[in-house]
Amino acid sequence: MPVPWATAAQSEKPTPISGYTGSEMAFATLRKWIDTCDRKHACRPQSSSLLPARVLCIRDTGRIFLHCTKPGETGSYACLSHCWGAYQPLRTTTANIASHQSAIHEDALPPVFLQAISVAARLHIPYLWIDSLCIIQDSESDWQMQSALMVDIYANSIITISAALATCDLDALFVRSPQYNQFIPLEAGASLGISARATLKHGTGTSLPLLSRAWVLQERLLSPRVVHFTWEELIWECMEQTTCECGCIRSLWSPNFVPFDKNLLFDKILRHDSKMESKERWYRLVEEYSRLQLTLDRDRLPAISGAARRLSEFTGYTYLAGLWKETLISDLLWERKSRFAIRQLDLIPSWSWAKLGCEVEFDRSMSMQELATVITASCDSSGHDAFGEVTGGRIQLSTVVQPPSAVIAGAKTNDENASFQIASDNYSDKDTGSLCARMAIRRQVYATESDDEDISSGI
Ligand SMILES: [Zn+2]
Ligand SMILES: [Zn+2]
Repeated sequence: MPVPWATAAQSEKPTPISGYTGSEMAFATLRKWIDTCDRKHACRPQSSSLLPARVLCIRDTGRIFLHCTKPGETGSYACLSHCWGAYQPLRTTTANIASHQSAIHEDALPPVFLQAISVAARLHIPYLWIDSLCIIQDSESDWQMQSALMVDIYANSIITISAALATCDLDALFVRSPQYNQFIPLEAGASLGISARATLKHGTGTSLPLLSRAWVLQERLLSPRVVHFTWEELIWECMEQTTCECGCIRSLWSPNFVPFDKNLLFDKILRHDSKMESKERWYRLVEEYSRLQLTLDRDRLPAISGAARRLSEFTGYTYLAGLWKETLISDLLWERKSRFAIRQLDLIPSWSWAKLGCEVEFDRSMSMQELATVITASCDSSGHDAFGEVTGGRIQLSTVVQPPSAVIAGAKTNDENASFQIASDNYSDKDTGSLCARMAIRRQVYATESDDEDISSGI
C-alpha cells in the first residue's frame, strides 16, 4: 500500500520523536543535547554567572517569587523568549512588585510561563528570567536600564526557552504532535499495519509565530543555546549545532528554519573578524531583521540594539541609527526590497534603513568604489542608550559632483537645508561622479520633505 508521505532518504536517518514536547522522552533528548554542548562545544556557558537585576526564583518547592538580586550575585538561570500578544495576563508593575517579591501564585501564571518554569525546574536551573516579569513594565527608566543590559542577560543564560509556537502567553509550550505515529492498516479493517509519521516541516512558513518577531532575532543570536518548543518536536540551536528530535532539520526538507547563522554574534568568532567580515555580518543581520515584524514602530532601533552593542564591543565602531560611522559610505547603500507599504518614523534620520520599516538589502557590489569621505556624522539618543531610540541625526560628506544643473533636473531641492558638503574635485569617471552627486542631492531632497513617499533607498 503506498505511503502518503515522502520516505526519508537513508542518509538522513530520521529518528523517533517523542510526540509530546513535555514528555520525559523529549526532555531526555534535551538533556543529551545540553550534555554534548557542555562537554564538546566552545559555546558552553559558565555554570554560574552574574544574575540579572531580577529573576524568578523557582528553587523553593511550591513557591515562586521575584528575586531582586544583590550587586555581584551569581547563579545559573534560563531565559524565556515569547510572543507578548495583544494581552499580557501577568506583568510586573510598580503596583505589584512588592507582592511579586513575596510570591506569585501558580493560578496567576499563564500557561507559557508556568510550563517554562517547569522546563527550568526539570533541568535543575534555579532561576528564570522573563522580560515582562523581571522588568517593571510601567517604569520607563527601568525599561531603558534593563534594555541596555539585554546583551548580557541573554548571553549569560544557561539556555533560552523559546515558546516558538505560542502567539501569546495564554497558549501552551508543550503540545502533542498531530503527525505523530499514525497507524496505517495493510488493508481496510486489518489489525496488521505499519506505524508512520509525516516528514516534519521544521517551522517553515508561519507555523512558528515567535520566529517572525523582530525582538526575538537578537534574543536567539545572543543566547548561547536555545531550545524551541514547536508543534512537532524540540529543536536545538547552539553556536555549534542545530538539531532536532527527528534529526532531519539540516536536510533538504527544511532549508528555511535557519536562514541565518546562529553564530552570527558568537564572541569567539567576532574577535577574529576583519573589517570586511564585520560589515558583512551586520548587513546579513539587518537584512534578516528587516523582514521581521514589530508591534510598535518605535521599537525599530531598540529591538536590534543588543545585537549592535555586541558587535560594537568587538569593532569599537560608532553606531549611527542602524549604520556605523566607520563604514558609513557603503552602509548608506541600502535599498528598499519589499513593495509593502512603509511606515516612516519622523525622528529617525532619512539616511537610515530604520526610517522606513520595510525589508531592505545592501549593495555588496565588489566593483563599487567609495568616492565620498565622511566629514562629520552623529545621532542624538532619546535616552542614555546610544544603541536605542534616536531623536535625530546628521551626516556631512565630501564628494565629487557633476555640474548641478545636469543632476538636479526635475528634482525638488532646498538649498537652505542642504545636509551635505559637496566638494568639487577633479574626477575621471563622469558616470561615477554623477552617482555621488545624485546621492547627495537625493538625500537633501529626502531630508527636507517629511511627507515624501518616495524614499526607497539609502542613496
Ligand atoms: Zn553548543
Ligand atoms: Zn526534526
